[in-house]
Amino acid sequence: MNRTVDVFGVSISKVTMNEATSKIKEFVKSDTFHSIYTPNPEIIMLAKKDEKFHQILEEADLVVPDGIGVVIASRIKKGEKLPERVAGYDLVQNTMKEAVKEGYKYYFFGSKPGISEEAAVKMRQAYPGIEIVGTRNGYFKPEDEADIIADINASGANILLVALGAPKQEKWIEANKHLMPNVRVAIGVGGSLDVMSGNVKRAPIAFQKLGLEWFYRLLKEPTRFKRMLVLPEFLIKVIFYKKESRL
Ligand code: UDP
Repeated sequence: MNRTVDVFGVSISKVTMNEATSKIKEFVKSDTFHSIYTPNPEIIMLAKKDEKFHQILEEADLVVPDGIGVVIASRIKKGEKLPERVAGYDLVQNTMKEAVKEGYKYYFFGSKPGISEEAAVKMRQAYPGIEIVGTRNGYFKPEDEADIIADINASGANILLVALGAPKQEKWIEANKHLMPNVRVAIGVGGSLDVMSGNVKRAPIAFQKLGLEWFYRLLKEPTRFKRMLVLPEFLIKVIFYKKESRL
């Protein structure tokens, strides 16, 4: 990973959305595997408590700031700043706009039964000619894993979207990357397949522009409240970090 900005010990790539999209283009043209992760504040807090997970993020090829909180954190501390939010969902959509031209072949792995197939139908409508060469839901037993990997390999996919939630998806990618010789890019995409399938709605653009997508999500899915309790803690750390760096 090249230029990065430290956000509470996690190295976030200093890239714009366009630069991240170009990186994926380069990665697919290369002859090696690349991992891409999209942390928000919740995930950065998780990395603080899970050293293995933290290590996986540090060793990734691209780590983009999915949450506005990550960008704000970089801006209120001294040193390098992150240029903009790079939401994982939007990043994947941007690759899809170029998919036919660039020869991207996607495999959708994760989410509840039926969702990845619905997502594939919707993306084929949105991007005519796009190759989505395989799908598989994200509820499996350890003994199913060899079959899943065989299916990914047989599909010829070069971009693998893994939607198992964090940190499961990142750990799965790390544990299995050496078994997928044709995959050039694996992206941990969280709930993106749910959104692509139309079962979950993104926040309206106005919320996104105001940096309030997380708030919209909380209103829509109040059960996320417990998970989001880490957000005030993150904010306090951000403020503390600012004071610390001014000393
Ligand atoms: N999921 C899955 N297998 C699991 C646990 C979760 O496929 O064992 C899926 C779940 O159905 C959902 C996604 O992983 O589609 C996680 O979405 P979430 O919005 O929670 O992602 P995060 O915010 O953690 O990135």
